Amino acid sequence: MNNEKFVEVKNLRKVYDNGYEAIKNVSFSVKKGDLVCLLGPSGCGKTTILNMLAGLLFPTSGDILFDGKSVVKTEPKDRQIGYVFQNYALYPHMTVLQNVMFPLTVGKNKKSKEEAEKVARKYMDLTQITEFANQKPGSLSGGQQQRVAIARALVQEPKILLMDEPLSNLDARLRLKIREEIRALVKKVGITTLFVTHDQEEALSIGDEIILFNDGVIQQDDLGQNFYLEPNNYFVANFVGNPVIDNFKVEIKDGKVIGSDFELNLDDFDNSRFKREISDGQYILSVRPENIQPDENGHFEAEIKDVELIGRERILKFDHEAVQTRSLVNLEVPIKAGDKVALKMRLDRVFLFTPEGERVY
Ligand code: ATP
Repeated sequence: MNNEKFVEVKNLRKVYDNGYEAIKNVSFSVKKGDLVCLLGPSGCGKTTILNMLAGLLFPTSGDILFDGKSVVKTEPKDRQIGYVFQNYALYPHMTVLQNVMFPLTVGKNKKSKEEAEKVARKYMDLTQITEFANQKPGSLSGGQQQRVAIARALVQEPKILLMDEPLSNLDARLRLKIREEIRALVKKVGITTLFVTHDQEEALSIGDEIILFNDGVIQQDDLGQNFYLEPNNYFVANFVGNPVIDNFKVEIKDGKVIGSDFELNLDDFDNSRFKREISDGQYILSVRPENIQPDENGHFEAEIKDVELIGRERILKFDHEAVQTRSLVNLEVPIKAGDKVALKMRLDRVFLFTPEGERVY
């Protein structure tokens, strides 16, 4: 058994019939028992990958291995996969118990009614839906229906659980609750899980690891905190983080980083963070709003246009450069809209990207 590469995707490509290449040479692996998030904007190819893993779509080229064995020629029903869809896909005319039992009452591994009910009840207990056993899905809330869908996916005791945006039909508060529950549940069952979402906060909170896609290409495959602290490129830095990162157009010339109204010395940057020698030219300097703070010795001045409260912190919004600049401060900082403040960037925390988005610092 290969626990490190329990799920392995090798050089996977998918070209749809209309010639569109949705997945471009993607490779990754998932450890046994891990919960990995496939993250990315709408249309980046997350569902296409999940459908290839499930066997609902055939890859154009490349390989998919479960536990070391290629499954691309294996029928979906023989892949030992549980799939939870965005819209739950429950049978409306069946009770909750009948829905959860259903996979065990069909196909060649079908169980006796008593045995099927016993297993179904075990997973209904785990997902806390036993009290709704005799109700129809239509009489349940979205969160309860989602639990039924999860119980039904787990009842065949699959090796791998695939979840496609399972929380998107729930309201904000319930999403937080159910995502904690899902994480606790899949960890308790110990099932290897791939969880698709377009929501970076959801991915950071639920995933052991995150694979971020854009345009059918992996942008970063990493632990959550590294997307924040060590983004691979401009796309990653801008996709992950709330409030979003601030970006400044700069020119680097003769050891200086020259912005529209500030000038920094490259010598003041942290030597250990340069990815390569930096030649003179145009770059983008990016800094997360918590690393740009009001400070008497600031790098530039700007007027606060608006202040937004988010929990215990406030976002100060400045009209600086063409794009908005933000600073994230705690509630105690005595500042209001209309104030002109000097802002200082933490140079050991900023990033530098080429105009093409390649990270150089
Ligand atoms: P979302 O979050 O919106 O569901 P996604 O990341 O899951 O998006 P996919 O559904 O995998 O994206 O689609 C990836 C790309 O492939 C999209 O540009 C989509 O328009 C295209 N696509 C999907 N299905 C087909 C198809 N059957 N034929 C042609 N193109 C398709």
